[in-house]
Amino acid sequence: MIQLIRGFKDILPGEVELWQHIEKTARSLFEDFGFKEIRIPILEHAELFARSIGEDTDIVEKEMYTFPDKKRGLITLRPEATASVVRAYIQHTLYAKDPIQKFYTIGPMFRRERPQKGRYRQFYQINAEVFGIDSPLIDAQLIFMIMTFFSRLSVTGLEAHINSLGCHKCRRNFKDALSVFLSAASEKLCTDCKRRSLRNPLRVLDCKVPSCKEAMVEAPSILDYLCPECTMHFNAVKDALKKFNIPFVIDRLLVRGLDYYTRTTFEIQTGSLGAQNAVAGGGRYDTLVKTLGGPDQPAIGFAIGFDRLVEITDLKSADFVRKPDIFLAALGEKSMSIAFEWFCAFGVDGIKAELDLNGRSLKSQMKRADKLGAGYVLIVGKKELEEGSVILRNMTTKEQTAIPIDNIVEKIKKIIDHELHGYIKR
Ligand SMILES: [Zn+2]
Ligand SMILES: [Zn+2]
Repeated sequence: MIQLIRGFKDILPGEVELWQHIEKTARSLFEDFGFKEIRIPILEHAELFARSIGEDTDIVEKEMYTFPDKKRGLITLRPEATASVVRAYIQHTLYAKDPIQKFYTIGPMFRRERPQKGRYRQFYQINAEVFGIDSPLIDAQLIFMIMTFFSRLSVTGLEAHINSLGCHKCRRNFKDALSVFLSAASEKLCTDCKRRSLRNPLRVLDCKVPSCKEAMVEAPSILDYLCPECTMHFNAVKDALKKFNIPFVIDRLLVRGLDYYTRTTFEIQTGSLGAQNAVAGGGRYDTLVKTLGGPDQPAIGFAIGFDRLVEITDLKSADFVRKPDIFLAALGEKSMSIAFEWFCAFGVDGIKAELDLNGRSLKSQMKRADKLGAGYVLIVGKKELEEGSVILRNMTTKEQTAIPIDNIVEKIKKIIDHELHGYIKR
């Protein structure tokens, strides 16, 4: 039997309803905050990610699914969404109409990481990106929006971790200080970090190798090197977060593993997932639009890990599985043909109906209706048809009523709508 590839997964019915609910919640909240959906391709030129995420990052060095295309050189299964959204913003000159643009996108990303519990090589993200706004208020508002999103999904115990990576001006001084520190600590660093400390010292800060982590405790903090503008910007983010009553921790080692970040970077962390505890992360990337050939527009964005979110929400998939409103139990060929017409008419009318097309006994059909959790069963038997009526059984109260078959679909729709009215909004 052919099985799925290790590190990949199926999302099955019964489980997918929760995913749908999360998506619906994201769409409705993000759109209320002024975001519009953008859909970007799964495949992009490999160069897009090398130039945006950075050549020396783990993602580009080790984790991308890159392969040669017949005519187009190297192409890559997107490992993240930001680079593609920036590409689209530039390619379609979306900034010309209005430099301020807010996008969100939901979909799969691909990274060839070592498969482990809760980590997949095809994983899902909810992304949002804002272009053209420099104000620190938008940084805080994004974090506020994420927190609101999580609270709507019954995720609690979250904490925002924030840092500032400064601009190119302040980062130059910090890189110098960090390089001095790293060459002194070189003995304790892993092989990758020895190389990185020369080419891209910032990368060493978020290395996951324990000995590197330990060595970095003493590392200089970027926050001590911020220029006055970056300090003011970061202070304003903190003030706004306080205004929103969002608890936050200043985490000077937070550099987020991608080269394009500037100024505010953040992660939303939870204690409930052990070591891999970030459920969302993001930050500013004020220079990326320009780097990729666009206008000089600031930008900020975030990604929420969909798979982890599903693990930590208190909501259960079962709550979102829609049960049949009505089960049609038809007995005999003639009944079946009439019931089949009704079955289709119910579907058109927005009533979720089920019909056992295999023509089994009444007893086994009732059993199936019960198993499916149908609200009503409509018994369509030979005797009933001769008498010109059918039996409607309320599966909760077990009450049975004979209903004349003229306009039956309409009558039942009324009963079901009436039943639903008041406690479920359809
Ligand atoms: Zn600066
Ligand atoms: Zn290392």
